[in-house]
Amino acid sequence: MIQLNKLNFGTSGIPLITNPRDTINGINQVRKLSLDAMELEFVHSINISEEKTQWVRETAKKNNIILTCHAPYYINLNAQEKQKWYASIQRITKSAKITHLCGGYSVCFHPAYYMKDNPKDVYNKVKEAIKLILQELKKDEIEIFIRPETAGKISQFGNINEIIKLSEEFENVLPCIDWSHIHAYNNGKYNTKEEFKEVLSLIENKLGRNALDNVHFHCQGINYNEKGERNHLNLKESDFNYKELVKVWKEFKLKGVVICESPNVEKDSLLLKETYEKN
Ligand SMILES: [Zn+2]
Repeated sequence: MIQLNKLNFGTSGIPLITNPRDTINGINQVRKLSLDAMELEFVHSINISEEKTQWVRETAKKNNIILTCHAPYYINLNAQEKQKWYASIQRITKSAKITHLCGGYSVCFHPAYYMKDNPKDVYNKVKEAIKLILQELKKDEIEIFIRPETAGKISQFGNINEIIKLSEEFENVLPCIDWSHIHAYNNGKYNTKEEFKEVLSLIENKLGRNALDNVHFHCQGINYNEKGERNHLNLKESDFNYKELVKVWKEFKLKGVVICESPNVEKDSLLLKETYEKN
């Protein structure tokens, strides 16, 4: 496993100002912006071929940029049809393989939809799928963090307790905490210093200090209603209390990666980094 010695900030995907827009130029641009990380966005497709990974890896290494990945949106580890369930497993496994070949640190994904099923049954089905994913990666000797992400919508599987519980079950599985999702999922709660601390303390108590030394976060502005997440916003256009949140990160002396998914992506990534550093 790659170990990081500080909290690193980066963009979800290629920065907007990158021209022409491709992964290699994106990594170079992230460095020029004085950011430290970039999330490979495989959300619509796994758009890096195996042949190209060496080039991506060398560019990231040369620029000292940490790479994470967001696996495709078309994943449901609670799919009713076996074929779709296996296809979801394959998408996560392939995302992990490509990210590993790129020298990446961590792979996150949205695990499942409840589809009106009993949450306990959904949990077991997701758990079974993750077991198969890890077996497959082990066969290929791939060591990378696999991260189910906290859900933004109440129709999605993945409240904080479910994500932590999954992480307790397997080595190499840790939560991807999307702070804005947790805030939206709970219709405006999780926006105070005490609540932010509560999340990190829960992680530390259940998963140990190792989980705080290896975080993978998402943080951006968000619009929501009683059903949870509606859409992402820029931080300053939202009610999300990022200023208090970064103070708590600092207090807990976290290490790992913070990825920003705001529409203005590099601007808010820098805002988070600068707010964090001046505290
Ligand atoms: Zn996500």
